[in-house]
Amino acid sequence: MKRVVLAALGLAAASSSLRGADAPKPDPEPRVVEPGPVGGPPSDAIVLFDGKDLSQFRGERSAEPKWKVENGVMETTPQGGIFSKQEFGDCQLHVEWAAPAEVKGEGQGRGNSGVYLMGRYEIQVLDSYQNKTYPNGQCGAFYGHNAPLVNACRKPGEWQTYDIIFRAPRKLADGTGQPGSFTVLHNGVLIQDHIPVGGEPTTAAPLRGVVEQGPLYLQDHGNPVRFRNVWIRPL
Ligand code: MG
Repeated sequence: MKRVVLAALGLAAASSSLRGADAPKPDPEPRVVEPGPVGGPPSDAIVLFDGKDLSQFRGERSAEPKWKVENGVMETTPQGGIFSKQEFGDCQLHVEWAAPAEVKGEGQGRGNSGVYLMGRYEIQVLDSYQNKTYPNGQCGAFYGHNAPLVNACRKPGEWQTYDIIFRAPRKLADGTGQPGSFTVLHNGVLIQDHIPVGGEPTTAAPLRGVVEQGPLYLQDHGNPVRFRNVWIRPL
């Protein structure tokens, strides 16, 4: 009995010493986010396209974006892609898209579009359903860099989801660069698992070096690809 009391006193002493300067700080209470319907948007998201208009975007070749908006859906036209007016760095992004139901073309010419983080790092949109191309250019590839882990494409015409967690590259105080990263789920399936993103753009975009933020860019690649329910949460 005496031993038990002594042991209890010892525990009390140990736990009271933890209340000093070395005690771990309690985590702050996480704030509440209403997740919204399946597919979002959650209550703290910035909604970039809710089916009504393109007011959150500018055109690639003109101030006004030239994409079609009909029945809650926007569709690419051959007059260039669209850039979000707002710029983002680290973020969680949700995009729903559909390749044309009528299959035309092959390889890179079938249902090609793209989701570019910071206007420069492309997650490829392509109809890769029974349509071969080079792996680091197929649907869900970090274009030109990293093939998706698996091909999770739905059939042409069907709605598909991208959920992207993006960390922007950073310039450190000593002038060196710290890579960012891509994690991507395609239709709920993990296809990019914390893949490094360097400081240089993946295309011939006239941007060089590391920047902190950039616009979301949705590509026109000459195929009529549809988009809906686009929202983003800066992290
Ligand atoms: Mg593309």
